[in-house]
Amino acid sequence: MNVLISLDGISYQSFEPYAQQWIENGYSFCQKLITTFPSVTFTAHAAAMTGSHPGKHGVFDNIVARPETMERVALYGDHEILCNEALHKQTIFHSLARQAGTSCCIHWPMTSGNPYIHHLITESGSKKKLKSKVSVEEIDHVALRETMRAIKTEAYDFISARFVGYDALSHQYGKDSPEAMRCLKELLTYLDQIEQTLKKTQKPFNLIIFSDHGQSDIHSFFYPNEILAKSQWKQHFRNKQIKFVGDGSGALLFYSSLDYQQNKEIMAFFEQMPEVHHFYELTGDTPSACSPFGILDLKHTVCGEDIAFPEQPKYQEMKSLHGYHPANVDEMNGFLLCLGDAFTKSKMIEETNIENIAPTLAQLFRIAHPCDGQPIKDIFKEYE
Ligand SMILES: [Zn+2]
Repeated sequence: MNVLISLDGISYQSFEPYAQQWIENGYSFCQKLITTFPSVTFTAHAAAMTGSHPGKHGVFDNIVARPETMERVALYGDHEILCNEALHKQTIFHSLARQAGTSCCIHWPMTSGNPYIHHLITESGSKKKLKSKVSVEEIDHVALRETMRAIKTEAYDFISARFVGYDALSHQYGKDSPEAMRCLKELLTYLDQIEQTLKKTQKPFNLIIFSDHGQSDIHSFFYPNEILAKSQWKQHFRNKQIKFVGDGSGALLFYSSLDYQQNKEIMAFFEQMPEVHHFYELTGDTPSACSPFGILDLKHTVCGEDIAFPEQPKYQEMKSLHGYHPANVDEMNGFLLCLGDAFTKSKMIEETNIENIAPTLAQLFRIAHPCDGQPIKDIFKEYE
C-alpha cells in the first residue's frame, strides 16, 4: 500500500525545526520541494498528481477566467471547466486504474468526478467552508478518520489525502501565529497516527508526505484591474477584452483578447511598477481554454486582488498568502518526507520538484505514467 499525504501551506522553512526528529525516526527527507508557479494549492496539487507542469495539466491558479467573457471562475468545489476528463486522464489515478490498481482520495483538489478513483471524498473548498463556519479542525479530523479507515480496510493500493488546517489558519492569523503553529504540531501527530496504522497492517507500505507551498506575511495590497480601469487601456477593460484574475494572491493571471503587441505594451507598463516583480508571458502549448496570456508576479509581501470599482477588497484582513514565483520567494517552497519498504532510510536530499511526485509513485507501483517529471531516484533503496 502506498500513501501520499499533503500538508497544505507549510513552507520548508517552517518545517525545518522538526526535520531532525523525522530523520531520526527513519524518514528520508527532501529539504526543499520546489513548487509550481503560481505557488497556489490547485496548481501544485494538479502538478503532484499528474507529474506535469501547468502548461500541460492546464490548472494555472485556484481561479481562472473564461477568455471569451472574462467571467471569473473559482475552482473551489472543482469546477468542470478544468476538472474534467482531460485532466483526470493525466492523473496517477488513471495510470494505476489501467493496471487494475485501486485508489482512495480524500480532500484533494481537482478530483471531483475522476472516474479512476475508487473511493473519493472530494475537496469541497476549504476557504468556502471556513466562511460557512465549519472549522478546519473538523475538516482535518474527517481526513484523518477517512485515511485511517482506508488503510485499515486494506482495500486500496493507493491512498492520498490532504490536510488544510495549517494553510487556512496561516491565511487567517499569520504563518507563525500561535493558531497556525498549534495546528502544525497537531498535524504532525496525525502523521504519526497514520504511520502507526500502516505498521499495524503488517503489510509492506510506503508513505510520502509533502507540502504544496509555503506562506508569506502580507505588508501591502495591489489592485491591477483598478489601474487598468484608469489607464490608456480603460476602454478595452470596460469592453472585457483585458482582465487580471487572482484570489488574494502573490500572482495574478492576465487574460487578453488584444493583439500581441498591445499585450506586450500592457506588460511593460506593469513591469515598471514598484509592486511588480516580473510579468511572465506564457509560451508554448495552451492546453486549456482558460490559459492566460501571462502571469503577473508580485514582489514579496504584496497581495494582489482582482477587484475593480464598485467591488470592495476582500482580503484586507488576511495575514499570510502565497502565489509568488518560488524562484523569487524562497519560502514558497515546501518539503517532502518518505518512509517505507522501497525507500532508503534517513537520507537527506537538498531539493526536488513537485512534478516528481507522480512519477515516484509510478515507480513504486511499477507502472508507466507519461508526464514531465522523473522519479526521485535518490530516495529509492534500489538505486543505492
Ligand atoms: Zn495549498
